Amino acid sequence: MAKTVLITGSTSGIGLGIAKVFAAQGHNIVFNGLEPNGAEIAQQVADEFGIQHIFSPANMLQPDNIKAMIAEAEAKFGGIDILVNNAGIQFVSPIEDFPADKWNAIIGINLTAAFYTTQAVWKGMKARKWGRIINIASAHGLVASEFKSAYVASKHGIIGFTKTIALEGAPFGITANAICPGYVHTPIIDKQIADQMKTHNLSREEVIEKVMLDKQAVKEFIPVDAIAQSVLYIASDSAAQMTGIALPIDGGWTAQ
Ligand code: NAD
Repeated sequence: MAKTVLITGSTSGIGLGIAKVFAAQGHNIVFNGLEPNGAEIAQQVADEFGIQHIFSPANMLQPDNIKAMIAEAEAKFGGIDILVNNAGIQFVSPIEDFPADKWNAIIGINLTAAFYTTQAVWKGMKARKWGRIINIASAHGLVASEFKSAYVASKHGIIGFTKTIALEGAPFGITANAICPGYVHTPIIDKQIADQMKTHNLSREEVIEKVMLDKQAVKEFIPVDAIAQSVLYIASDSAAQMTGIALPIDGGWTAQ
């Protein structure tokens, strides 16, 4: 039976990949993201897989936007069964120059938004005695890299939040898990490559090899589909006992 899946930040990168694997299974998708052509991207996926969908440009920094998006989805589909908190941003700077507005935006989008979305879907999941909350954290939820203070704090924070929600959801058939990807080649990474080229005076290839993939034992970007398939599994009934985990898909980065 078709379930309803809300994926924040699903008009680009990893979120779009997750939306496609759920769409391929015939589920209803609530798309969200700030891409100016987000509505068209969502429509294309819906047409390709013949699914029902909503596109919401809700800004994850605006609690009222989040509540309105979830209310609209509940009105159309009856409830959210699977929530994927994926929207995220990055900013790289030494701590002494780290702009406070970037810190607040990163914590707001990568961490606090998941509090608001979870709270908004919770009552419905609890009433239906079934729910899946999947948070796209990062290898940076488990280990740090210099110059990424806000991002690392937000991703460590979302793992703590995930564990708490797992405990609170257990009596009601709600699981909560985090996925911790290594480097996945998406637009967020393209921006970082450009920034690091400037900061370190390196070529594109050097940044990829010496700054990014140097962290991973497997010297390749993680495919978007590898992340998406893991989310699909965690959302399945087979994964009912998997809760409160932070699953690295990171080419051996955090094994070291
Ligand atoms: P991306 O830039 O391609 O996608 C990010 C999405 O979030 C976009 O759709 C964007 O519009 C949306 N978004 C950003 N700010 C928003 C806001 N205020 N309100 C609503 N939507 C907003 O990046 P991605 O690589 O696909 O990242 C997705 C998630 O995966 C992020 O949480 C990121 O931290 C995490 N992650 C990425 C990597 C990687 O290497 N790409 C590694 C580990 C974790």
